[in-house]
Amino acid sequence: MSNQPSVNRALFDEVMVPNYSPSAVIPVRGQGSRVWDQEDREYIDFAGGIAVNCLGHCHPALVGALKEQSEKIWHLSNVMTNEPALRLAKKLTDNTFAEKVYFANSGAESNEAALKLARRWALDVHGEDKTQIIAFKQGFHGRTFFTVTVGGQAAYSDGFGPKPGDVVHAEYNNLESVKALISDKTCAIVMEPLQGEGGIVSPTPEFVKGVRELCDQHNALLVFDEVQTGVGRLGALYAYMDLGVTPDILTTAKALGGGFPIGAMLTTTEIAKHLKIGTHGSTYGGNPLACAVAEAAFDTVNNAELLANVNEKAKLYVNGLNAINEKYHVFSEIRGKGLLIGAVLTDAYQGRAKDFLNAAMTEGVMTLVAGASIIRFAPSLVIPNEDIAEGLARFEKAVAAIVNA
Ligand SMILES: *Cc1c(COP(=O)(O)O)cnc(C)c1O
Repeated sequence: MSNQPSVNRALFDEVMVPNYSPSAVIPVRGQGSRVWDQEDREYIDFAGGIAVNCLGHCHPALVGALKEQSEKIWHLSNVMTNEPALRLAKKLTDNTFAEKVYFANSGAESNEAALKLARRWALDVHGEDKTQIIAFKQGFHGRTFFTVTVGGQAAYSDGFGPKPGDVVHAEYNNLESVKALISDKTCAIVMEPLQGEGGIVSPTPEFVKGVRELCDQHNALLVFDEVQTGVGRLGALYAYMDLGVTPDILTTAKALGGGFPIGAMLTTTEIAKHLKIGTHGSTYGGNPLACAVAEAAFDTVNNAELLANVNEKAKLYVNGLNAINEKYHVFSEIRGKGLLIGAVLTDAYQGRAKDFLNAAMTEGVMTLVAGASIIRFAPSLVIPNEDIAEGLARFEKAVAAIVNA
C-alpha cells in the first residue's frame, strides 16, 4: 500500500475546492452518539451531521437495511421503478397529508422540485402572471441557484450573476410583511416551520395560521421546507403536525436517510398531476439503496415512544444548558423545539459561536452553530441520556475555558 497518500487535514487544502473549512479532526468511525478520530480520540456527537443522523451512527436497523439491499440491487434509474422506493413512498403518504411523492437526493433538490412544481401548477391552473414566490429573510432552502435565491440570505445568493426572477422576502413572524407582498399573482409561500440555519426561530401559531389563510385567500400554495424539522426532529413526525396547519407541498431530506443521501417532495394528487411525464427528474432520485435505508429510518422514527422521548431528551438539554448558564452567564436565551436547540450568546460573546464550537471539540463534544452567535444542538433522536449528561459536562468545560481565557 506504499502508493497510498497519507490522509490528513493538510491534504484537504491541497486537493479540495476551498468552499469549506473543516475542523482539523478527521473522524473515522462512530457508534451510537460516540465518534472516534484518526488518533482514536473519542467525541460525543451533539451535531448529528447537521440534523441528519437521527439514529446516531451505525444504527443496526440502518446497517441491516443497507447490507441487505446492497446484495440485491443498487441502482436502476427511473426508467424502472423499484421496491424500496415504492414501499417508502407508501409509508410517507400513509403517515402524512400527502398522496404523492417525488424522490430526490438532497434537501436542495427536493426544494427545487417543489418550486418548479409550484410554478408549473400556477401556470397550468391560473396562467402566466402567477409567478411570485414569497419566502422569508434568514430562511434557508439549499444551495442550488433557485433555492439560494428563495433563501433569505444575500451572502449565499449574491455574486453568481442574474437570479431566477419574481422571488421576494417577507419577515418571519410578521404577518403584516406577508400581507404587504401577497396578491393574486403570488404562486407560493415557502417557509420553514422553524427557521434552522437562520437562527433556530420558532414561528408563532398565529403567524403560521395567518400564512395559511393568506395562501387560501390568494390561491397560492403553501410550501413547508421540513428538510431540517422533519422526521421527528421537533418531536412530531413532521413539524406541521404540531402546528395545526397543513401545507400543500412538503419537502423532507436530512434525517430521512439517517445519513444516507435522500430527499423527497410530498404533495397532493391534485397538485402533483402538473408534474407530468418529462417535466422533471433525477438519475439517482429514488435509488434503491437510499430508499431501503430511509425506509428503515422512517420505520424506526415513526414510533410514538421514540417521538415522546425526543421531548424528554430535549428537557435534559434545556435544563443542562440553563444550569451551565447560571454559572457562566454566556447565553441570553435557550430556544428551539425538540432536539433542535439554539443557545444564543449574550452581547459579550457576539460573533463567537465558532470559538465555542472549537473549544467544545477540544473537550470532546461535537456541536454546531446557527449563524455567528448561536450554538446549535441537533443530536441523534435516540442519544442515550448518559451521553447527553457526559456531553454537557464536556461542553461546560469548553464554556469555562472561554469564559476564563
Ligand atoms: C439543510 C437544509 C436544506 C438543504 O439541504 P441539502 O441536503 O444540503 O441540499 C434545505 N432546507 C433546509 C431547511 C435545510 O435545513
